[in-house]
Amino acid sequence: MKQLIIFGPPGVGKGTQAELIAEKLNIAHFSTGQILRDAVSNKTDLGNKAKVIMDSGALVPDDIMIGIVKDALSSPDIKTGFLLDGFPRTLKQAESLETIFDELQFNNVIVISLVADDDEIVKRLLLRGRSDDTEETIKFRLKIYKEQTSPILAHYDGNYTIIEINGIGDIEEINSNILKHLI
Ligand code: AMP
Repeated sequence: MKQLIIFGPPGVGKGTQAELIAEKLNIAHFSTGQILRDAVSNKTDLGNKAKVIMDSGALVPDDIMIGIVKDALSSPDIKTGFLLDGFPRTLKQAESLETIFDELQFNNVIVISLVADDDEIVKRLLLRGRSDDTEETIKFRLKIYKEQTSPILAHYDGNYTIIEINGIGDIEEINSNILKHLI
């Protein structure tokens, strides 16, 4: 059973690669950003609460996100495996995820770490043009990534297998670089 986390700064291509990986390996893809965007579209309580936070580029509170991921990982459609995309984003989320993995006996976790430099990331996010992709929120999201999210990788080093992949280049080529390590 594949137990995967895709990790990297906003705009590095996590979502695109995650979709391809999930499709090719026939595993469940959980994008916490997409789960939140669906909640916003459906105007659920969660969506209404998350919208303002997401538009500002800030992070939705840990307890909400941990609840969402716990539910997702406990669902029966992950028999063949799962790929987490956009989670964890803070050390608190990373620690809770370890507990969830322990409880569910997921012991073979692989972290796919996509890497790109800041200039490339800003360029890509401006091209993507999502409602939370203004220049101001992009800078803020990158700052949050550096302060709160990137330390997770050091925390994982030694606990999980980390595969580092260059996120710049042709989508299919990047994808085959990733899959080489997974099959
Ligand atoms: P993403 O699609 O991963 O870029 O996420 C879009 C937005 O959703 C982020 O800027 C956050 O506001 C929110 N979000 C997604 N995942 C998380 C998470 N794990 N923790 C906190 N906020 C999140």
